[in-house]
Amino acid sequence: MQAIKQLYRIGYGPSSSHTIAPYRIGKAYKANNPICDSYKIELGGSLALTAKGHGTIDIIKEALECDRISFSFDTECVENNMFIQGFYENEKRPLWHGKSLGGGAVSIEEYDIGDDKEVYDENNFEEIKKYLKENDTDLLSYVYSHEPDLRDHLSKCLETMFEAVDRGLKAEGLLNEPLKYYRIAQKLYKKAKERNDYLVAYSYAACEENAAGGMMCTAPTLGACGILTSLMYYLRFNEAYEIEELCDLLSIAGIFGNCIKRNASIAGSTGGCQAEVGTACAMASAALAYSEGGDLRTIEYAAEMGIEHFLGLTCDPVLGFVIIPCIERNAISILRSYDCAYLAKSFHNIKENTISFDSVVHAMNYTGNKLAIELKETSLGGLSLEYKK
Ligand code: SF4
Repeated sequence: MQAIKQLYRIGYGPSSSHTIAPYRIGKAYKANNPICDSYKIELGGSLALTAKGHGTIDIIKEALECDRISFSFDTECVENNMFIQGFYENEKRPLWHGKSLGGGAVSIEEYDIGDDKEVYDENNFEEIKKYLKENDTDLLSYVYSHEPDLRDHLSKCLETMFEAVDRGLKAEGLLNEPLKYYRIAQKLYKKAKERNDYLVAYSYAACEENAAGGMMCTAPTLGACGILTSLMYYLRFNEAYEIEELCDLLSIAGIFGNCIKRNASIAGSTGGCQAEVGTACAMASAALAYSEGGDLRTIEYAAEMGIEHFLGLTCDPVLGFVIIPCIERNAISILRSYDCAYLAKSFHNIKENTISFDSVVHAMNYTGNKLAIELKETSLGGLSLEYKK
């Protein structure tokens, strides 16, 4: 599997696959072809269908530092392609074929951006458990021995998360004109009295900032960034957790996110929202089970439940904005993570889990493949058809 670090990327909202990924492709192209005065860009698949609502056009202009870009859109294509060609005084520069793979990861045929580097030999949670047993070690030692600099990276991610929530709690007013969406995080925070109130306020603060195109941290995507971000903020500022402890929780969460990324998908355009919000819920559930002292079996059970009850969840953002249903859904998911951790702990020594984490990921992959394309971040079906202006 690839580095856990890749699940936590810092970049502009509102969508890791539609802003961070095109930004990275654009920046890589510019670094390799610095002398260009105009560009032609073709976007495919979900990138084409939701480019406007997801801020793709603006972020590409920013990455290339250029306004002279002619865009075309291949809405029939099923891949999230980004073809890019630069020009200088009408002379062609190389044509690159990039792809957005989810969570801000990209591939570029003509250039090695390094996202496909394998760090772990294990491919699923069963193999990880076997490794732990054979090497008489634990989950955190396993992760940090493979990624010794992970804590440093996660500390920076935590800073980004905290700043995003702080900004979101301060901001007020209209966030999105077409949807007539007004920010509510501050109002939620002002009346917060107990844990769930705070979690919801922090989740809204993060997601509203994300929708506004703020600097965010994927966890494992930007669409689902409110779940782990609100958990981290809550544990730090309401429960006084140390930064190191939070890094450990993100590492534990990352193990499960990584297994899903390898064996199913973390991209809404590939697997529907189960792949984004479902994955984040599993990650947060595992982190919470760990923080409450759960053993390996309890942690796995919590993560499994986090996915199981989101199976089949569609991605049908209204008008292509990462707002409805995304923001509310993040808040629901962080609350559910606490339920999963609680249930997994309650079941301890009472019942075994019938479905393993790997099995639910297998089912998630199957379900994602069966979902209609209209329900995979294209805004062509589901809720997106119900909205009346
Ligand atoms: S519905 Fe879910 S997967 Fe789709 S954009 Fe919103 S958060 Fe992402």
